[in-house]
Amino acid sequence: MIEDKNQQRTQLSDLGEFGLIDHLTKNFKVKQTSTIKSIGDDAAVLNFKNNNVVVSTDLLVEGVHFDLSYMPLKHLGYKAVIVNLSDIYAMNATATQVTVSIAVSNRFPLEALEAVYAGIETAAKIYNVDVVGGDTTSSKTGLLISVTAIGEVEPSNEVYRNGAKPNDLLVVSGDLGGAYMGLQVLEREKEVYKVNPNNQPDLEPYTYIVERQLKPEARKDVVKLLSDLKVKPTAMIDVSDGLSSEILHLCKQSNVGCDLYENKIPLDPQVISTCEEFNIDSTTVALNGGEDYELLFTISQEDYPKIKANPSLTVIGFMREKEAGVHLVTRAETKVEIKAQGWKNFNA
Ligand code: ADP
Ligand code: MG
Repeated sequence: MIEDKNQQRTQLSDLGEFGLIDHLTKNFKVKQTSTIKSIGDDAAVLNFKNNNVVVSTDLLVEGVHFDLSYMPLKHLGYKAVIVNLSDIYAMNATATQVTVSIAVSNRFPLEALEAVYAGIETAAKIYNVDVVGGDTTSSKTGLLISVTAIGEVEPSNEVYRNGAKPNDLLVVSGDLGGAYMGLQVLEREKEVYKVNPNNQPDLEPYTYIVERQLKPEARKDVVKLLSDLKVKPTAMIDVSDGLSSEILHLCKQSNVGCDLYENKIPLDPQVISTCEEFNIDSTTVALNGGEDYELLFTISQEDYPKIKANPSLTVIGFMREKEAGVHLVTRAETKVEIKAQGWKNFNA
């Protein structure tokens, strides 16, 4: 898409570094009262009064975390912000600011960065966070984008990974596996396109899962819901690497075991039908797929009545003593040990 001949291509060097920063950031308006000084000085100044501050960073690298042949640049900007906000919400905190750092090679015109920033701006608006700084530099190999998210939480309201207790319930928001199956569809269409560029992909039957991959959302709403329901999770993590890996994190850090029930794992009908089409097991996809950005948390059993009627929350398991281990209880009621997956990015 950045090769489109009809599109204007303004060389980044025409603007210079400061002109570029100005141009990209001129629309950002301060919304949070905690933002005292935003873009334009040597550092941003923030004031959180008596709240605790949470900070999280992610780095996205072209060719490793995203493929520009099917990832529109606007979506990339949006997703780069979302994946970071998700980490803030996983602490049971409110996201308030982000900083955005980019490295670009000269194969990207100004219009490409404008598209990335349009996505960043949209996410910042929807999630009510201020963009308060960043860094801009050149790269020889492609596009890198790093976002740091900042949030606040009332002292003692933060939720760590290490608080789960035996007999707690394991709960997940939304549904799982969609982002991974969306990626499978996009990869297949890319191969088809390589063979015949006149072949227009029909993504209609896959709209939900493609959107889960290209335009994920962070579960700000779930943090609010839990607060409204007066439920404080005992432990929480966001689902970025896949359910099995996140469960193992919770169990390891909390020193507990877990039984995960295969028949409880929430799956969208489009995930099920696409798994059938690709001949992949949907449980494997939910366990190892990743990038769903749902919240996975444990609650004490006393809190079950408060959440049980909620359609966006599903109880999928039961925490146990550490000695019991971490298992998937299959539909056939056999127990399979859940094991750590390797790190995808390095395995390839
Ligand atoms: P310095 O030389 O001190 O690093 P810069 O010239 O890089 O300062 O940045 C000037 C201002 O613009 C700072 O407030 C910085 O945080 C902000 N900024 C730089 N690059 C970006 C970017 N890509 N997105 C948002 N803000 C940026
Ligand atoms: Mg700088």
